Amino acid sequence: MLFKSINPFSQDVIAEYESLTISELNKKLRLSEAAFKNWKKTSFQQRADKMRKLAEVLRANKEKLGLLITNEMGKIISESIAEVEKSASNCDYYADYAEEMLKDQYYDTAFKSMSVYDPMGAVFAVMPWNYPFWQVLRYAAPTIMAGNVTLLKHASNVIGCAKAIENAFLEAGFPEGVFQQISIEISQVESVIASHIVQGITLTGSEGAGSSVAGLAGKHIKKSVMELGGSDAFIVLNDANLEKAAEVAAHSRMLNAGQACICAKRFIVIEKVADEFVSLFSKNIQSLKQGNPLEQGIQLGPLARLDLADTLANQLEKSLQQGAKLVLGGAHDNCNFQPTLIDFVSVDSIAFQEETFGPLATVIRAKDENDSVVIANNHRYGLAAAIWTENRENAYKLARKIEAGNVFVNSLVLSDSRIPFGGIKKSGYGRELGTVGIREFMNMKSIVIE
Ligand code: NAP
Repeated sequence: MLFKSINPFSQDVIAEYESLTISELNKKLRLSEAAFKNWKKTSFQQRADKMRKLAEVLRANKEKLGLLITNEMGKIISESIAEVEKSASNCDYYADYAEEMLKDQYYDTAFKSMSVYDPMGAVFAVMPWNYPFWQVLRYAAPTIMAGNVTLLKHASNVIGCAKAIENAFLEAGFPEGVFQQISIEISQVESVIASHIVQGITLTGSEGAGSSVAGLAGKHIKKSVMELGGSDAFIVLNDANLEKAAEVAAHSRMLNAGQACICAKRFIVIEKVADEFVSLFSKNIQSLKQGNPLEQGIQLGPLARLDLADTLANQLEKSLQQGAKLVLGGAHDNCNFQPTLIDFVSVDSIAFQEETFGPLATVIRAKDENDSVVIANNHRYGLAAAIWTENRENAYKLARKIEAGNVFVNSLVLSDSRIPFGGIKKSGYGRELGTVGIREFMNMKSIVIE
């Protein structure tokens, strides 16, 4: 099979890549096995030296790598470069803290008893295109610092990024086989999961892909982490700073052209302040400059693929038929989708029920605070949420009631190397980042000595 990288803005085919044959794939699996035998014996210091070098390589090439990201998936160039920098910081973070995070733990028992963390083998990762560097380094830096090795199946529209990441690992001095990208078809995924060298599976992507890969992980009894879709609530209460909320709302929804799992997607606003919020929100969205993602000053690029624009247009059309009111935008030309705002969205409409992956903001009006929490939780996804209120004490109480893996108050929801990240319900299970992230694919072995 031939994978094509298509520039979403120009629609030019920029590269083509052949998928691996069965024998090429088996060779990579054997290389992974050989690499693990040595890598697991290296010290934290040795791993950290290479991981810091990797951060340097990424930073030194951030312009070139940023350009590759923009050309393959269309995000604006400043966001692409920032993504490479954030990925480098994650490498430094785990280089600094992995040893401390994985130190032996002792228990107060009659015998000497402890738990130690052993690496498990190869972690097989299936990753999405929307943050083609960050999603990869987010799992790969802790995995490799912990002594595991990894195989990456990246999304088929960003194989160039996958190859560039592999080259960066090699340039940083990692032995061959510690990090390998494998251009494989979905039909080849099971053979990788089944391989004895693969002991962990991590997938970031849609609910459908997660369901399929989690099923295969279960079939072959392999530990898995699933980072799946979301439809994050952004709750605006009566006492919120509406100006600030509306400004962050536009940023949160339109970041990466609306293609982030933790973009705010459902704006749940108390009726009393809804008109004012919608007016401010609409002005902020209108002021965004859309265009060529390589041009300075452009704030919104194209969607990554034509089929994504068609899906979003379909969701919009159906939601309007279901009674939502169009406030702004709505049209699209190829991958360029106008930033769009719809109001009076009902909880049974498509824009509420499904994840909308693009620049479509959906306002749902709630009667009061309790109603806003009920609406926020009335969803299949539970990735993240934001609450806007000047009453921080109340915000904490509400945050405890929200069914999501992350809740932010008066702030943009973002991932941070130090803070565990992940979802519940159909947004998946397991956590990345922080200390808990590095422990996901370890054998926590208890040893008791009389
Ligand atoms: P996707 O279509 O699920 O693709 C993600 C990855 O899964 C790609 O590598 C894709 O390969 C692969 N894949 C698709 N179907 C598969 C199957 N049946 N078996 C095995 N692999 C399969 O998702 P996407 O459109 O790239 O990404 C957007 C989704 O990811 C959104 O739902 C978003 O919310 C979610 N996401 C979640 C997080 C998080 O941290 N929770 C972060 C980012 C994105 P191909 O490219 O070859 O199809």
